[in-house]
Amino acid sequence: MNRDIFQKIVQIVGRKHCSMEIEERHCYSYDNSKQTFLPDAVALPDSTEQVAALVKLANNNKIPIVARGAGSGTTGGAIPTHGGIVLSCTRLNRILEIDRENQIAIVEPGVITGEFQQQLKKHGLMYAPDPASLKFCTIGGNVAECAGGPSAIKYGVTKDSIIGLEVVLANGDILCTGCRTEKGVVGYDLTRLFIGSEGTLGIITRIITRLLPLPEHKETFLLTSRSLPEATALVATILQKNILPCTLEYMDKTAIAVVSNLLPEAPGKDIEAMLIIEIDGSQKHTAEQAELLRNLAATRELCTLRQAATEEEVTEIWKARRSISPAAFKLSPHKTSEDVVVPRSRIPELVSFCEALSRDLELTILTFGHAGDGNIHVNIMSCNTTELEKEKVVAAKKALFEKVLGMNGTLSGEHGIGTSKSAFISMELNDTSIMIMQQIKQLFDKNNILNPGKIFPANKFSDPSASC
Ligand SMILES: Cc1cc2nc3c(=O)[nH]c(=O)nc-3n(C[C@H](O)[C@H](O)[C@H](O)COP(=O)(O)OP(=O)(O)OC[C@H]3O[C@@H](n4cnc5c(N)ncnc54)[C@H](O)[C@@H]3O)c2cc1C
Repeated sequence: MNRDIFQKIVQIVGRKHCSMEIEERHCYSYDNSKQTFLPDAVALPDSTEQVAALVKLANNNKIPIVARGAGSGTTGGAIPTHGGIVLSCTRLNRILEIDRENQIAIVEPGVITGEFQQQLKKHGLMYAPDPASLKFCTIGGNVAECAGGPSAIKYGVTKDSIIGLEVVLANGDILCTGCRTEKGVVGYDLTRLFIGSEGTLGIITRIITRLLPLPEHKETFLLTSRSLPEATALVATILQKNILPCTLEYMDKTAIAVVSNLLPEAPGKDIEAMLIIEIDGSQKHTAEQAELLRNLAATRELCTLRQAATEEEVTEIWKARRSISPAAFKLSPHKTSEDVVVPRSRIPELVSFCEALSRDLELTILTFGHAGDGNIHVNIMSCNTTELEKEKVVAAKKALFEKVLGMNGTLSGEHGIGTSKSAFISMELNDTSIMIMQQIKQLFDKNNILNPGKIFPANKFSDPSASC
Protein backbone atom coordinates (compact mmCIF):
# COMPACT_ATOMS: atom_id res chain seq x y z
CA MET A 1 0.00 0.00 0.00
CA ASN A 2 1.45 3.33 -0.92
CA ARG A 3 1.86 6.29 1.43
CA ASP A 4 -0.83 8.35 -0.39
CA ILE A 5 -3.48 5.80 0.48
CA PHE A 6 -2.24 5.68 4.07
CA GLN A 7 -2.48 9.50 4.24
CA LYS A 8 -6.14 9.18 3.24
CA ILE A 9 -6.66 6.65 6.06
CA VAL A 10 -5.07 9.19 8.43
CA GLN A 11 -7.53 11.83 7.20
CA ILE A 12 -10.46 9.50 7.87
CA VAL A 13 -9.62 8.18 11.37
CA GLY A 14 -6.90 10.54 12.60
CA ARG A 15 -3.18 9.81 13.02
CA LYS A 16 -3.60 8.25 16.48
CA HIS A 17 -6.02 5.63 15.18
CA CYS A 18 -4.17 4.02 12.30
CA SER A 19 -0.73 2.64 11.67
CA MET A 20 1.64 1.17 9.13
CA GLU A 21 4.27 0.38 11.78
CA ILE A 22 5.46 -3.22 11.70
CA GLU A 23 4.88 -3.70 15.47
CA GLU A 24 1.25 -2.60 15.17
CA ARG A 25 0.68 -4.67 12.06
CA HIS A 26 1.96 -7.77 13.88
CA CYS A 27 -0.69 -7.29 16.56
CA TYR A 28 -3.41 -7.61 13.91
CA SER A 29 -1.81 -10.40 11.89
CA TYR A 30 -3.16 -13.44 13.74
CA ASP A 31 -6.19 -14.86 15.46
CA ASN A 32 -6.95 -17.96 17.47
CA SER A 33 -6.37 -20.13 14.37
CA LYS A 34 -2.65 -19.37 14.92
CA GLN A 35 -2.11 -18.46 11.27
CA THR A 36 -0.22 -15.23 10.61
CA PHE A 37 -0.51 -12.79 7.71
CA LEU A 38 0.63 -9.19 7.98
CA PRO A 39 -1.77 -6.43 6.96
CA ASP A 40 -0.38 -3.37 5.16
CA ALA A 41 -2.16 -1.02 7.54
CA VAL A 42 -4.44 -1.00 10.54
CA ALA A 43 -7.31 1.44 11.10
CA LEU A 44 -9.53 1.92 14.14
CA PRO A 45 -12.61 3.91 13.10
CA ASP A 46 -15.10 5.14 15.69
CA SER A 47 -18.21 5.81 13.62
CA THR A 48 -20.22 4.28 10.78
CA GLU A 49 -19.21 7.23 8.61
CA GLN A 50 -15.52 6.50 9.16
CA VAL A 51 -16.10 2.81 8.36
CA ALA A 52 -17.93 3.81 5.17
CA ALA A 53 -15.11 6.16 4.12
CA LEU A 54 -12.48 3.45 4.75
CA VAL A 55 -14.40 0.81 2.80
CA LYS A 56 -14.97 3.21 -0.08
CA LEU A 57 -11.27 4.03 -0.16
CA ALA A 58 -10.41 0.33 -0.18
CA ASN A 59 -12.93 -0.39 -2.93
CA ASN A 60 -11.81 2.46 -5.16
CA ASN A 61 -8.24 1.23 -4.88
CA LYS A 62 -9.06 -2.50 -4.87
CA ILE A 63 -7.39 -3.05 -1.50
CA PRO A 64 -8.58 -5.94 0.72
CA ILE A 65 -10.24 -4.86 3.97
CA VAL A 66 -10.77 -7.25 6.88
CA ALA A 67 -13.03 -6.49 9.85
CA ARG A 68 -11.65 -7.60 13.20
CA GLY A 69 -13.32 -8.00 16.59
CA ALA A 70 -11.19 -9.60 19.32
CA GLY A 71 -9.40 -12.08 17.03
CA SER A 72 -10.70 -15.03 19.06
CA GLY A 73 -12.10 -16.80 16.00
CA THR A 74 -10.70 -20.28 15.50
CA THR A 75 -10.96 -20.58 11.71
CA GLY A 76 -8.78 -17.70 10.53
CA GLY A 77 -11.71 -15.36 9.76
CA ALA A 78 -9.99 -12.19 10.98
CA ILE A 79 -6.55 -12.74 9.48
CA PRO A 80 -5.61 -10.62 6.46
CA THR A 81 -4.53 -13.46 4.16
CA HIS A 82 -4.19 -11.02 1.25
CA GLY A 83 -2.76 -8.07 3.17
CA GLY A 84 -4.59 -4.76 2.88
CA ILE A 85 -6.32 -2.96 5.75
CA VAL A 86 -7.40 -4.52 9.02
CA LEU A 87 -10.40 -2.56 10.28
CA SER A 88 -10.46 -3.05 14.03
CA CYS A 89 -13.83 -2.55 15.75
CA THR A 90 -12.20 -1.82 19.13
CA ARG A 91 -13.44 1.79 19.22
CA LEU A 92 -16.92 0.93 17.97
CA ASN A 93 -17.75 -0.29 21.45
CA ARG A 94 -20.80 1.62 22.63
CA ILE A 95 -24.07 0.25 23.93
CA LEU A 96 -26.30 2.79 22.21
CA GLU A 97 -29.68 1.91 23.63
CA ILE A 98 -31.34 -0.50 26.03
CA ASP A 99 -35.11 -0.38 25.50
CA ARG A 100 -36.43 -2.17 28.58
CA GLU A 101 -40.07 -1.83 27.63
CA ASN A 102 -39.69 -3.50 24.25
CA GLN A 103 -36.77 -5.70 25.30
CA ILE A 104 -34.32 -4.77 22.57
CA ALA A 105 -30.89 -3.16 22.57
CA ILE A 106 -28.78 -1.43 19.94
CA VAL A 107 -25.04 -1.95 20.18
CA GLU A 108 -21.91 -1.34 18.17
CA PRO A 109 -19.94 -4.38 16.98
CA GLY A 110 -16.89 -3.88 19.23
CA VAL A 111 -18.88 -4.33 22.45
CA ILE A 112 -17.50 -7.29 24.43
CA THR A 113 -20.29 -9.86 24.69
CA GLY A 114 -19.79 -10.59 28.41
CA GLU A 115 -19.71 -6.86 29.26
CA PHE A 116 -22.99 -6.36 27.38
CA GLN A 117 -24.52 -9.18 29.43
CA GLN A 118 -23.27 -7.61 32.68
CA GLN A 119 -24.85 -4.26 31.78
CA LEU A 120 -28.15 -5.96 30.93
CA LYS A 121 -28.20 -7.81 34.26
CA LYS A 122 -28.53 -4.44 36.01
CA HIS A 123 -31.84 -4.03 34.15
CA GLY A 124 -33.06 -7.57 34.90
CA LEU A 125 -32.53 -8.52 31.24
CA MET A 126 -30.35 -10.89 29.30
CA TYR A 127 -28.86 -11.31 25.83
CA ALA A 128 -28.88 -15.07 25.51
CA PRO A 129 -25.92 -16.11 23.29
CA ASP A 130 -23.04 -17.02 25.60
CA PRO A 131 -19.97 -18.33 23.73
CA ALA A 132 -17.31 -19.69 26.07
CA SER A 133 -15.13 -16.78 24.90
CA LEU A 134 -17.65 -14.16 26.10
CA LYS A 135 -15.18 -12.44 28.41
CA PHE A 136 -13.12 -11.25 25.43
CA CYS A 137 -14.96 -11.81 22.11
CA THR A 138 -17.06 -9.06 20.52
CA ILE A 139 -20.70 -9.11 19.54
CA GLY A 140 -19.71 -8.09 15.98
CA GLY A 141 -17.48 -11.17 15.73
CA ASN A 142 -20.33 -13.25 17.18
CA VAL A 143 -22.75 -11.98 14.53
CA ALA A 144 -20.23 -12.50 11.73
CA GLU A 145 -19.65 -16.13 12.87
CA CYS A 146 -23.16 -16.80 14.23
CA ALA A 147 -21.59 -17.81 17.52
CA GLY A 148 -23.32 -20.21 19.86
CA GLY A 149 -22.86 -21.13 23.47
CA PRO A 150 -24.08 -23.46 26.19
CA SER A 151 -27.48 -21.76 26.41
CA ALA A 152 -28.24 -22.34 22.71
CA ILE A 153 -30.10 -25.52 23.56
CA LYS A 154 -32.88 -23.43 25.13
CA TYR A 155 -32.36 -19.91 23.78
CA GLY A 156 -30.81 -20.45 20.35
CA VAL A 157 -27.62 -19.14 18.75
CA THR A 158 -26.71 -15.58 17.73
CA LYS A 159 -29.06 -15.49 14.72
CA ASP A 160 -32.01 -16.16 17.04
CA SER A 161 -31.26 -13.02 19.06
CA ILE A 162 -30.56 -10.52 16.26
CA ILE A 163 -33.43 -8.66 14.63
CA GLY A 164 -31.66 -5.98 12.62
CA LEU A 165 -28.28 -4.71 11.46
CA GLU A 166 -26.57 -1.66 10.03
CA VAL A 167 -23.96 -2.73 7.50
CA VAL A 168 -21.45 -0.83 5.40
CA LEU A 169 -21.38 -2.34 1.92
CA ALA A 170 -18.32 -2.68 -0.32
CA ASN A 171 -19.06 0.57 -2.17
CA GLY A 172 -19.43 2.48 1.11
CA ASP A 173 -23.24 2.56 1.07
CA ILE A 174 -24.96 2.02 4.41
CA LEU A 175 -27.63 -0.67 4.52
CA CYS A 176 -30.15 -1.12 7.35
CA THR A 177 -31.74 -4.56 7.62
CA GLY A 178 -34.58 -5.96 9.71
CA CYS A 179 -36.62 -3.87 12.11
CA ARG A 180 -37.08 -3.08 15.79
CA THR A 181 -40.15 -5.22 16.21
CA GLU A 182 -40.48 -8.88 17.20
CA LYS A 183 -41.96 -9.73 13.82
CA GLY A 184 -41.22 -8.41 10.34
CA VAL A 185 -41.38 -10.10 6.93
CA VAL A 186 -41.01 -7.25 4.46
CA GLY A 187 -38.84 -8.58 1.65
CA TYR A 188 -35.95 -11.01 1.88
CA ASP A 189 -34.34 -11.63 5.25
CA LEU A 190 -31.09 -9.73 4.71
CA THR A 191 -30.30 -9.78 8.43
CA ARG A 192 -29.89 -13.56 8.34
CA LEU A 193 -27.81 -13.30 5.17
CA PHE A 194 -25.20 -11.19 6.96
CA ILE A 195 -25.21 -13.31 10.12
CA GLY A 196 -22.49 -15.92 9.71
CA SER A 197 -21.11 -14.27 6.55
CA GLU A 198 -17.67 -13.85 8.21
CA GLY A 199 -17.10 -10.27 7.10
CA THR A 200 -17.25 -11.22 3.41
CA LEU A 201 -20.44 -9.30 2.49
CA GLY A 202 -20.20 -6.09 4.50
CA ILE A 203 -18.92 -4.49 7.70
CA ILE A 204 -21.46 -4.58 10.50
CA THR A 205 -21.62 -1.26 12.34
CA ARG A 206 -24.78 -1.58 14.46
CA ILE A 207 -26.67 -4.54 15.85
CA ILE A 208 -30.26 -4.65 17.11
CA THR A 209 -30.60 -7.48 19.61
CA ARG A 210 -33.59 -9.17 21.12
CA LEU A 211 -33.48 -9.34 24.94
CA LEU A 212 -35.15 -11.63 27.43
CA PRO A 213 -36.06 -11.21 31.09
CA LEU A 214 -33.40 -12.71 33.37
CA PRO A 215 -34.66 -16.05 34.64
CA GLU A 216 -35.76 -15.88 38.25
CA HIS A 217 -33.74 -18.90 39.31
CA LYS A 218 -31.08 -21.31 38.08
CA GLU A 219 -29.80 -24.67 39.34
CA THR A 220 -26.48 -26.16 38.24
CA PHE A 221 -25.72 -29.89 38.25
CA LEU A 222 -22.61 -31.89 37.52
CA LEU A 223 -23.18 -35.43 36.32
CA THR A 224 -20.12 -37.67 36.38
CA SER A 225 -20.15 -41.06 34.73
CA ARG A 226 -17.94 -44.11 34.68
CA SER A 227 -19.25 -44.90 31.22
CA LEU A 228 -18.77 -42.68 28.19
CA PRO A 229 -21.58 -44.35 26.17
CA GLU A 230 -23.98 -44.05 29.11
CA ALA A 231 -23.23 -40.35 29.67
CA THR A 232 -23.47 -39.39 26.01
CA ALA A 233 -26.66 -41.40 25.49
CA LEU A 234 -28.22 -39.47 28.39
CA VAL A 235 -28.07 -36.24 26.36
CA ALA A 236 -30.91 -37.25 24.03
CA THR A 237 -32.79 -39.00 26.84
CA ILE A 238 -32.84 -35.87 29.03
CA LEU A 239 -34.73 -33.99 26.31
CA GLN A 240 -37.01 -36.93 25.59
CA LYS A 241 -38.04 -36.91 29.26
CA ASN A 242 -39.39 -33.36 28.90
CA ILE A 243 -36.45 -31.78 30.67
CA LEU A 244 -35.37 -28.63 28.82
CA PRO A 245 -32.09 -27.50 30.36
CA CYS A 246 -30.57 -24.11 29.53
CA THR A 247 -27.16 -25.82 29.49
CA LEU A 248 -26.22 -29.36 28.55
CA GLU A 249 -22.47 -29.50 28.15
CA TYR A 250 -20.27 -32.56 27.85
CA MET A 251 -16.57 -33.32 28.46
CA ASP A 252 -14.70 -36.55 27.87
CA LYS A 253 -12.03 -37.81 30.26
CA THR A 254 -9.16 -36.06 28.45
CA ALA A 255 -11.01 -32.74 28.60
CA ILE A 256 -11.76 -33.36 32.29
CA ALA A 257 -8.10 -34.15 32.97
CA VAL A 258 -6.82 -30.84 31.55
CA VAL A 259 -9.11 -28.79 33.82
CA SER A 260 -9.47 -31.16 36.80
CA ASN A 261 -7.53 -28.77 39.06
CA LEU A 262 -10.23 -26.12 38.46
CA LEU A 263 -13.25 -28.27 39.30
CA PRO A 264 -14.87 -27.97 42.78
CA GLU A 265 -13.93 -31.59 43.51
CA ALA A 266 -11.22 -33.67 41.82
CA PRO A 267 -12.98 -36.32 39.71
CA GLY A 268 -12.20 -39.99 40.44
CA LYS A 269 -9.77 -41.83 38.16
CA ASP A 270 -12.59 -44.01 36.81
CA ILE A 271 -14.65 -41.05 35.53
CA GLU A 272 -15.04 -41.28 31.76
CA ALA A 273 -17.31 -38.30 31.08
CA MET A 274 -19.06 -35.35 32.67
CA LEU A 275 -22.20 -33.39 31.85
CA ILE A 276 -22.91 -29.88 33.10
CA ILE A 277 -26.67 -29.47 33.27
CA GLU A 278 -28.42 -26.24 34.17
CA ILE A 279 -32.10 -25.57 34.58
CA ASP A 280 -33.57 -22.08 34.77
CA GLY A 281 -36.97 -20.42 35.15
CA SER A 282 -39.28 -19.84 38.09
CA GLN A 283 -38.55 -21.55 41.44
CA LYS A 284 -41.46 -23.93 40.84
CA HIS A 285 -40.38 -24.82 37.31
CA THR A 286 -36.75 -25.44 38.24
CA ALA A 287 -37.78 -27.57 41.24
CA GLU A 288 -39.98 -29.74 38.99
CA GLN A 289 -37.34 -30.08 36.29
CA ALA A 290 -34.63 -30.84 38.87
CA GLU A 291 -36.80 -33.61 40.29
CA LEU A 292 -37.20 -35.16 36.82
CA LEU A 293 -33.45 -34.96 36.33
CA ARG A 294 -32.68 -36.60 39.69
CA ASN A 295 -35.13 -39.41 38.93
CA LEU A 296 -33.54 -40.01 35.54
CA ALA A 297 -29.97 -40.00 36.91
CA ALA A 298 -31.01 -42.48 39.63
CA THR A 299 -31.83 -45.02 36.91
CA ARG A 300 -28.25 -44.90 35.58
CA GLU A 301 -25.98 -47.13 37.62
CA LEU A 302 -22.69 -45.62 36.54
CA CYS A 303 -23.70 -41.97 36.92
CA THR A 304 -23.61 -39.64 39.91
CA LEU A 305 -25.53 -36.39 39.91
CA ARG A 306 -24.31 -33.60 42.16
CA GLN A 307 -25.94 -30.23 42.58
CA ALA A 308 -23.74 -27.15 42.97
CA ALA A 309 -24.42 -25.89 46.48
CA THR A 310 -22.93 -22.39 46.25
CA GLU A 311 -22.31 -19.63 43.71
CA GLU A 312 -18.57 -20.28 44.11
CA GLU A 313 -19.04 -23.86 42.97
CA VAL A 314 -21.01 -22.72 39.93
CA THR A 315 -18.21 -20.25 39.11
CA GLU A 316 -15.61 -23.01 39.46
CA ILE A 317 -17.55 -25.37 37.19
CA TRP A 318 -17.80 -22.69 34.52
CA LYS A 319 -14.19 -21.65 34.90
CA ALA A 320 -13.22 -25.27 34.27
CA ARG A 321 -15.53 -25.62 31.28
CA ARG A 322 -14.39 -22.36 29.66
CA SER A 323 -10.74 -23.25 30.23
CA ILE A 324 -10.76 -26.56 28.32
CA SER A 325 -9.75 -25.00 25.03
CA PRO A 326 -6.68 -23.08 26.32
CA ALA A 327 -5.80 -25.82 28.87
CA ALA A 328 -5.63 -28.41 26.06
CA PHE A 329 -2.24 -26.92 25.14
CA LYS A 330 -0.86 -28.68 28.24
CA LEU A 331 -1.06 -31.83 26.11
CA SER A 332 0.64 -30.66 22.89
CA PRO A 333 1.67 -27.35 21.36
CA HIS A 334 -0.68 -27.62 18.36
CA LYS A 335 -4.45 -27.93 18.31
CA THR A 336 -6.84 -28.42 15.41
CA SER A 337 -10.29 -27.46 16.70
CA GLU A 338 -13.36 -28.73 14.90
CA ASP A 339 -16.93 -27.92 15.92
CA VAL A 340 -18.99 -30.52 14.12
CA VAL A 341 -22.68 -31.11 14.79
CA VAL A 342 -24.60 -34.39 14.70
CA PRO A 343 -28.15 -35.28 15.68
CA ARG A 344 -28.15 -35.57 19.50
CA SER A 345 -29.03 -39.25 19.44
CA ARG A 346 -25.84 -39.95 17.50
CA ILE A 347 -23.37 -38.32 19.89
CA PRO A 348 -22.38 -41.71 21.40
CA GLU A 349 -21.48 -42.95 17.90
CA LEU A 350 -19.48 -39.79 17.18
CA VAL A 351 -17.44 -39.89 20.39
CA SER A 352 -16.66 -43.60 20.05
CA PHE A 353 -15.57 -42.91 16.46
CA CYS A 354 -13.22 -40.19 17.78
CA GLU A 355 -11.81 -42.61 20.36
CA ALA A 356 -11.08 -45.16 17.64
CA LEU A 357 -9.57 -42.45 15.41
CA SER A 358 -7.31 -41.36 18.25
CA ARG A 359 -6.12 -44.96 18.79
CA ASP A 360 -5.66 -45.72 15.07
CA LEU A 361 -3.74 -42.54 14.26
CA GLU A 362 -1.98 -42.30 17.63
CA LEU A 363 -3.14 -38.73 18.14
CA THR A 364 -4.63 -37.30 21.32
CA ILE A 365 -8.20 -36.21 20.62
CA LEU A 366 -10.43 -34.41 23.13
CA THR A 367 -14.17 -34.22 22.73
CA PHE A 368 -16.33 -31.76 24.66
CA GLY A 369 -18.87 -29.04 24.01
CA HIS A 370 -22.49 -28.16 23.53
CA ALA A 371 -23.91 -31.67 23.60
CA GLY A 372 -27.47 -30.42 23.95
CA ASP A 373 -27.24 -29.13 20.37
CA GLY A 374 -25.20 -32.10 19.15
CA ASN A 375 -22.34 -29.60 18.69
CA ILE A 376 -19.22 -31.47 19.74
CA HIS A 377 -15.81 -29.80 19.79
CA VAL A 378 -13.26 -32.28 18.52
CA ASN A 379 -9.76 -31.07 19.35
CA ILE A 380 -6.97 -32.93 17.61
CA MET A 381 -3.69 -32.37 19.45
CA SER A 382 -0.28 -32.69 17.82
CA CYS A 383 3.24 -31.34 17.78
CA ASN A 384 2.80 -30.66 14.07
CA THR A 385 6.55 -30.82 13.53
CA THR A 386 6.95 -33.76 11.14
CA GLU A 387 5.29 -34.20 7.74
CA LEU A 388 3.93 -37.53 8.93
CA GLU A 389 2.18 -35.91 11.88
CA LYS A 390 0.74 -33.12 9.73
CA GLU A 391 -0.63 -35.72 7.32
CA LYS A 392 -2.16 -37.64 10.21
CA VAL A 393 -3.99 -34.52 11.43
CA VAL A 394 -5.42 -33.86 7.94
CA ALA A 395 -6.42 -37.52 7.67
CA ALA A 396 -8.16 -37.32 11.07
CA LYS A 397 -9.99 -34.16 10.06
CA LYS A 398 -11.16 -35.64 6.75
CA ALA A 399 -12.26 -38.91 8.37
CA LEU A 400 -14.15 -36.93 11.01
CA PHE A 401 -15.96 -34.83 8.41
CA GLU A 402 -16.89 -37.94 6.38
CA LYS A 403 -18.28 -39.60 9.48
CA VAL A 404 -20.23 -36.52 10.55
CA LEU A 405 -21.81 -35.99 7.13
CA GLY A 406 -22.66 -39.70 7.01
CA MET A 407 -24.58 -39.16 10.26
CA ASN A 408 -26.65 -36.27 8.79
CA GLY A 409 -24.45 -33.79 10.58
CA THR A 410 -22.69 -30.58 9.54
CA LEU A 411 -19.04 -29.46 9.48
CA SER A 412 -19.45 -26.38 11.67
CA GLY A 413 -21.99 -25.39 14.28
CA GLU A 414 -20.55 -22.03 15.31
CA HIS A 415 -16.90 -21.42 14.38
CA GLY A 416 -17.53 -20.86 10.68
CA ILE A 417 -15.33 -21.77 7.73
CA GLY A 418 -12.70 -19.00 7.42
CA THR A 419 -9.58 -20.45 5.85
CA SER A 420 -9.26 -23.59 7.91
CA LYS A 421 -12.29 -25.39 6.53
CA SER A 422 -12.64 -23.76 3.10
CA ALA A 423 -11.02 -26.76 1.37
CA PHE A 424 -13.72 -29.00 2.82
CA ILE A 425 -16.99 -27.14 2.15
CA SER A 426 -17.65 -29.06 -1.06
CA MET A 427 -17.92 -32.19 1.10
CA GLU A 428 -21.16 -30.71 2.49
CA LEU A 429 -22.42 -28.18 -0.08
CA ASN A 430 -23.18 -29.17 -3.63
CA ASP A 431 -21.98 -27.19 -6.67
CA THR A 432 -25.29 -25.32 -6.97
CA SER A 433 -25.12 -24.12 -3.35
CA ILE A 434 -21.52 -22.98 -3.71
CA MET A 435 -22.28 -21.24 -7.01
CA ILE A 436 -25.26 -19.35 -5.55
CA MET A 437 -23.21 -18.30 -2.52
CA GLN A 438 -20.39 -17.08 -4.78
CA GLN A 439 -22.92 -15.13 -6.88
CA ILE A 440 -24.22 -13.47 -3.70
CA LYS A 441 -20.64 -12.60 -2.77
CA GLN A 442 -20.08 -11.13 -6.23
CA LEU A 443 -23.29 -9.10 -6.04
CA PHE A 444 -22.26 -7.52 -2.74
CA ASP A 445 -18.55 -7.23 -3.41
CA LYS A 446 -17.67 -7.26 -7.07
CA ASN A 447 -14.03 -6.29 -6.46
CA ASN A 448 -13.65 -8.99 -3.80
CA ILE A 449 -12.18 -6.58 -1.25
CA LEU A 450 -14.17 -7.75 1.78
CA ASN A 451 -12.20 -10.39 3.65
CA PRO A 452 -10.97 -12.16 0.51
CA GLY A 453 -9.81 -15.76 0.66
CA LYS A 454 -12.41 -16.86 3.24
CA ILE A 455 -15.17 -19.48 3.13
CA PHE A 456 -14.73 -20.53 -0.51
CA PRO A 457 -11.98 -22.87 -1.66
CA ALA A 458 -9.19 -21.05 -3.48
CA ASN A 459 -10.27 -20.45 -7.04
CA LYS A 460 -10.35 -17.62 -9.51
CA PHE A 461 -13.09 -15.84 -7.62
CA SER A 462 -11.70 -16.14 -4.12
CA ASP A 463 -8.20 -15.16 -5.18
CA PRO A 464 -8.23 -11.35 -4.89
CA SER A 465 -5.26 -11.06 -7.21
CA ALA A 466 -7.78 -11.98 -9.93
CA SER A 467 -9.74 -8.81 -9.26
CA CYS A 468 -7.76 -6.56 -6.88
C1 LIG B 1 -11.34 -20.08 24.50
C2 LIG B 1 -12.30 -19.88 23.35
C3 LIG B 1 -13.60 -20.34 23.48
C4 LIG B 1 -14.50 -20.19 22.43
N1 LIG B 1 -15.78 -20.62 22.61
C5 LIG B 1 -16.70 -20.43 21.65
C6 LIG B 1 -18.05 -20.84 21.84
O1 LIG B 1 -18.44 -21.38 22.86
N2 LIG B 1 -18.91 -20.61 20.83
C7 LIG B 1 -18.53 -19.99 19.67
O2 LIG B 1 -19.37 -19.79 18.80
N3 LIG B 1 -17.26 -19.61 19.46
C8 LIG B 1 -16.34 -19.79 20.42
N4 LIG B 1 -15.05 -19.39 20.23
C9 LIG B 1 -14.65 -18.78 18.94
C10 LIG B 1 -14.76 -17.24 18.89
O3 LIG B 1 -14.69 -16.66 20.17
C11 LIG B 1 -16.04 -16.82 18.16
O4 LIG B 1 -15.99 -17.22 16.81
C12 LIG B 1 -16.34 -15.32 18.23
O5 LIG B 1 -17.60 -15.10 17.65
C13 LIG B 1 -15.31 -14.45 17.51
O6 LIG B 1 -15.46 -13.13 17.95
P1 LIG B 1 -14.28 -12.07 17.80
O7 LIG B 1 -14.76 -10.76 18.29
O8 LIG B 1 -13.05 -12.57 18.41
O9 LIG B 1 -14.15 -12.03 16.22
P2 LIG B 1 -12.84 -12.15 15.30
O10 LIG B 1 -12.14 -13.42 15.57
O11 LIG B 1 -12.06 -10.90 15.39
O12 LIG B 1 -13.52 -12.22 13.87
C14 LIG B 1 -14.30 -13.33 13.51
C15 LIG B 1 -14.94 -13.06 12.14
O13 LIG B 1 -15.86 -12.00 12.25
C16 LIG B 1 -15.58 -10.99 11.28
N5 LIG B 1 -15.96 -9.72 11.89
C17 LIG B 1 -15.59 -9.22 13.08
N6 LIG B 1 -16.19 -8.05 13.29
C18 LIG B 1 -16.96 -7.80 12.20
C19 LIG B 1 -17.82 -6.72 11.80
N7 LIG B 1 -18.01 -5.65 12.58
N8 LIG B 1 -18.43 -6.81 10.60
C20 LIG B 1 -18.25 -7.88 9.79
N9 LIG B 1 -17.45 -8.91 10.11
C21 LIG B 1 -16.83 -8.86 11.30
C22 LIG B 1 -14.09 -11.13 11.00
O14 LIG B 1 -13.73 -10.60 9.75
C23 LIG B 1 -13.93 -12.63 11.06
O15 LIG B 1 -14.31 -13.21 9.85
C24 LIG B 1 -14.10 -19.55 21.23
C25 LIG B 1 -12.79 -19.08 21.11
C26 LIG B 1 -11.90 -19.24 22.16
C27 LIG B 1 -10.51 -18.70 22.01
